[in-house]
Amino acid sequence: MSFPQSDLTGTRYSRHNLIPGWNQQRLASAKVLVVGAGALGNEVIKLLALVGVGNITIVDFDKVELTNLTRSVLFREEDIGQSKAEVAAHRAMEINPDFSVIPIHADLEFDLGMGILRSMDIVLGCLDSIRCRLTLNRMCRLMGIPWINGGIEMNAAESTIFHAVNGACYECGLSQEMWNQQNLRHSCSGLRTVTPEDPVPTTAPIASITAGYMVQQALASLHSSSTTAFDASKIYLTFDPPGMSVQMLNPNPNCMAHENWSEIKLHPFSATNSTPGSLMRAFGIEKGVLELGFDLLTEIRCLKCGKDEKIMQPNELCSSTLIYCPHCSSASRIAITIHQIEAASEFFETSLSFLCIPDYQILELIGDNTLHVQITGEWQPVVERK
Ligand SMILES: [Zn+2]
Ligand SMILES: [Zn+2]
Repeated sequence: MSFPQSDLTGTRYSRHNLIPGWNQQRLASAKVLVVGAGALGNEVIKLLALVGVGNITIVDFDKVELTNLTRSVLFREEDIGQSKAEVAAHRAMEINPDFSVIPIHADLEFDLGMGILRSMDIVLGCLDSIRCRLTLNRMCRLMGIPWINGGIEMNAAESTIFHAVNGACYECGLSQEMWNQQNLRHSCSGLRTVTPEDPVPTTAPIASITAGYMVQQALASLHSSSTTAFDASKIYLTFDPPGMSVQMLNPNPNCMAHENWSEIKLHPFSATNSTPGSLMRAFGIEKGVLELGFDLLTEIRCLKCGKDEKIMQPNELCSSTLIYCPHCSSASRIAITIHQIEAASEFFETSLSFLCIPDYQILELIGDNTLHVQITGEWQPVVERK
């Protein structure tokens, strides 16, 4: 998006323009993804709207609940039960009519094509689980997009910027304790246990302070001509007693998350209109495999009575209660999963959407060479403006 010069130099942004080095036009054209529209996400979106960052996409799969109202400046009582992403987008556009915002009601890991993330200048992670942060970290590193991780607790908070392809990433600094914590929700089969994550005790002031640091770091990155020349740095805040420290983070040479897909090929067809076979043919791959990027639970089979049930869902989204067989009442069912598809597969001519691949996903095709292909073409955000 670009604004008429009069909008940028007129009264709305005139105080910003007094700041040495400030570039309102750069902010007006910036594309920022906010992942998570909870307490922290609300504050981040509010600040991005106020400063005039032009193009925001908000991803969240939750709905507004009564307990959110103490920490979410963009939500009202009448919004309860509605999509957080959609309500936050609507209210942000009330704050700033210059602001274009696209809500995506989706799960980060399984519903958001990486092509959407690839089109961004920076990503702000306003998440409350280690698992989601690990997912976002891997996606940003693969796509070469800088991201900022915000985290809030009762008496502490952090805002950490990770640059696009160099330096430390979120996974580099993950302790064994944090790995154990993120594995707790999953049983040995990979199926999701029924225990929900504990709610984080925190308040609006802590979300607000932390979001302030996150957006300030984002503004510095957007004003910078380089997205790779910095070290990752973490701002760590404590509130009782009050304190602050800034740490430079060192990369872990053994970190598994430093892969970068620098060359992406575009395929114009959507997930509904593509199959593994059609993708392979389009790119001249004769004997290759398509990596799904996750374990797809295709069916569940009872070892005792032999009955099968078709599932077709990412394994991670399936409940561990699926092991109970409704036919013989034993806990004897096992999951049949796949993570790649080749010509001999029964799914070779099945649509990618049936295989749980979202539009704009970037898929790895392995033949004589490895290709990375974005389906559905380039993501063109529909700009909603007053
Ligand atoms: Zn790393
Ligand atoms: Zn059975």
